[in-house]
This record gives sequence, C-alpha cells and structure tokens, in this order.
Amino acid sequence: MDFLHVILDRDGVLNAEAPSGWVTRPEDWAWERGALEGLARIGSRGRRVSVATNQSCVGRGLVEIAALDAVHARMGAEARAAGGRIDAVLVCPHAPDAGCECRKPAPGLVIRAIRLAGIPAARTLFVGDSERDVEAGRRAGVATALVRTGKGAASAALPSLAGVPRFDDLVHLAAFLEGGAAPAAGAELLAPGVS
Ligand SMILES: [Zn+2]
Repeated sequence: MDFLHVILDRDGVLNAEAPSGWVTRPEDWAWERGALEGLARIGSRGRRVSVATNQSCVGRGLVEIAALDAVHARMGAEARAAGGRIDAVLVCPHAPDAGCECRKPAPGLVIRAIRLAGIPAARTLFVGDSERDVEAGRRAGVATALVRTGKGAASAALPSLAGVPRFDDLVHLAAFLEGGAAPAAGAELLAPGVS
C-alpha cells in the first residue's frame, strides 16, 4: 500500500501545543520533534501533503483568520526551506458549539482534503495525535495512524485506538512509508473496506 496523499493534523503533530493553548502569532510557532525532517521525507517522491486542523480559537474570537494565515505562512515557508511541501491547509475555524461539519471528529476537513487532492481515499493516510483525529479519518474512509508526539502518547493507550498503527514521531512514520520500518502496533495500514 503506497499512500499518495498524507493528511496531517497540526497541533501536537507538526507543532508543539502553545502554553496558552493556541498558536495565534507566527512567533509562537514551535516545530514538534521530528516534524520538519518527517515532513520532507513524507512529501518526497511526489506524495501530496495536506494539513487538517481544528482552530476554534477563530470562532471563539481569540484570533483573526488573517493572523492564522500568517502562522501558516511561516509553517509553509519553513517546511519548504527544509525540503518539505504542504500542498493544502484546511482549517475548521468554528467554535465547538457551532454544529459545523468540519470540526474533527466530523469528517468534513478530511473529505475536503481528499477532493482537493483528487486522490482516492483508499490511497490516503490521515495522521493525528488524538482520538478525534482517528475518528475523523475513519468517518472519511481513509487509513489512520497515530504519532506519539503531542497528545499521542496518551491517545495510544486508549482501548478504542488499539488497532491503530502508531509511530514515535513523523520521522518514524516517514521511515514506514519508505518501507524501512513496521508500525509498532503491527496493524495493517489499510483503508476500511480496501483489500
Ligand atoms: Zn468547522
């Protein structure tokens, strides 16, 4: 199974969660362990890379969408400088009580990323650090994986996620995609319904 499209959660996967809880300024951005190298390797050989992130800080009135765009401009520029690529950034800006279809665990962001990429769900992998990431991926019909950065170490212990392949960080995920390492959980990285 070669994944042609990898969708990544942002907070706890690409960047460390900010002490305040929200990254509202570019200068508050701090790369998560292994993220820059992992991104570069995941995006090699033409593989598409998207980011799908809940940012209810917008809907809560804590940050303007323009400031969030500035944060993502820094993210994209530093990823490119390190040899990586981020083809699309999909944001749910809504507050939790807005009832939108994009806030994970709803599958809207993942479905949008798939449509934008034009790559089938069966060749798409969604990577996150939380239960709601995995649920969003499952509901969108894609294979899912956990990284143990961010909330990932705690999430990996949840019984509901027992069968989900997990990796120490994005570098280890990249090594798996390159065919060099087995997922720690020993689970098949297959999309639901695909054989
Ligand atoms: Zn939303």
